[in-house]
Amino acid sequence: TVRTRFAPSPTGFIHLGNIRSALYPWAFARHHKGTFILRIEDTDVERSTQEAVDVILAGMDWLGLDIDEGPFYQMQRMPRYREVIQQMLDAGQAYYCYTSPEELDTLREAQRARGEKPRYDGRWRPEPGKTLPEKPDGVLPVVRFRNPLDGSVAWDDAVKGRVEVSNDELDDLIIARGDGTPTYNFCVVVDDLDMAITHVIRGDDHVNNTPRQINILRALGATPPVYAHLPTVLNEAGEKMSKRNGAMSVMDYRDAGYLPEAIVNYLARLGWSHGDAEIFSREQFVEWFDLAHLGSSAAQYDGEKLKWLNNHYIKQADDARLAALVEPLLRAEGLTALERPALASVVGLFKDRAATVRELAESAAMFYRVPAPAADALAQHVTDAVKPALAAFADALADVAWEKAAIGQAMKAVLAAHGLKMPQLAMPVRLLVAGTTHTPSIDAVLALFERDTVVARLRSAA
Ligand code: GLU
Repeated sequence: TVRTRFAPSPTGFIHLGNIRSALYPWAFARHHKGTFILRIEDTDVERSTQEAVDVILAGMDWLGLDIDEGPFYQMQRMPRYREVIQQMLDAGQAYYCYTSPEELDTLREAQRARGEKPRYDGRWRPEPGKTLPEKPDGVLPVVRFRNPLDGSVAWDDAVKGRVEVSNDELDDLIIARGDGTPTYNFCVVVDDLDMAITHVIRGDDHVNNTPRQINILRALGATPPVYAHLPTVLNEAGEKMSKRNGAMSVMDYRDAGYLPEAIVNYLARLGWSHGDAEIFSREQFVEWFDLAHLGSSAAQYDGEKLKWLNNHYIKQADDARLAALVEPLLRAEGLTALERPALASVVGLFKDRAATVRELAESAAMFYRVPAPAADALAQHVTDAVKPALAAFADALADVAWEKAAIGQAMKAVLAAHGLKMPQLAMPVRLLVAGTTHTPSIDAVLALFERDTVVARLRSAA
């Protein structure tokens, strides 16, 4: 059965490109009714933080990427790594190397001077009939993996196709440092083996590690998993996404008013395709996701497309759900009397045009704050010529049935009686009642306000 994993290093910031590396293995596991594992690669103690772990967990939770096993933490698996290192030493698959950093420098310089690629020369690698150097005093040995000398290592990458690397390009990898701590590539191998990972779906910044990892897996008697190396996600300027060049953290998207289903749909298409389908639900994504349709060229982030998708999902979302998302945003603006009109009816009025929940909140605010229209806008729209019509409209509204159609009728009657066109009355009414000329249809807006409020605001100007 299929077992996939997301293996983030909690060393900072989780952008959309990172979270895509969670979404695809998750979807693959769900598609095959397999198991999805979260493994926190926290061996870089200096740079790993609990805060980053929390963001990873919160982001996955928000996007609905549920975990079947884990989170596992590599720092808690140290005894296991040491055990495997010992096992490999005992089996002659790994050996102690006492070469000091100074010796390595000298070696590399000599190799560079000869125009060769710097590479460990295997001086401590035991071979039949070979005499090893004298063990120096006071050097803590590293442990190196006995990489095969001949042949090559190859795999059929689900994205890149056949990749083949000659073993003479790989030197004997250090798997434990002088202080005994295991190195990154080694931990990954032991974990993928112990966790019985069948498909490694990860960023292609790891593709150079893969031949080394495969060789170690083989030495441990394992069949390597299927690898799918996802091309990088570029930002709108065509650069690799990173915090430095302005990428947003996954949770920033929630705070900016994106719905999780829009992010999932967006990321699903950022490097994978299903014909020309652009909009699909999480269920459809899981049903359709496969490795064969992963893209092989870099995917570029497109903020406008994400907004378009977000608007699509906002339009589809239930008014009560949107109201619950908008409410804290309004409270943060100091607007606390949110009972009348009901927030759900207000968001219903605006959701067709909103690209984000935040925009929805900005529009909704007009119902809950005292309007403060700009003086020049008032001068432009509330002219002496329209004041009699405003007064008449206020009088008419004082006793119409308080609903959209009746309000619209009353307005038409006033327009006819005063020889005005719709905008000549609608604009000043919007400004006086809502504080802005940018509102949806005026009859629908007025119907949501309290009658007394509307009448009072119109009369105050007329
Ligand atoms: N920890 C690695 C990273 O965050 C991923 C390693 C892997 O997926 O094998 O880039």
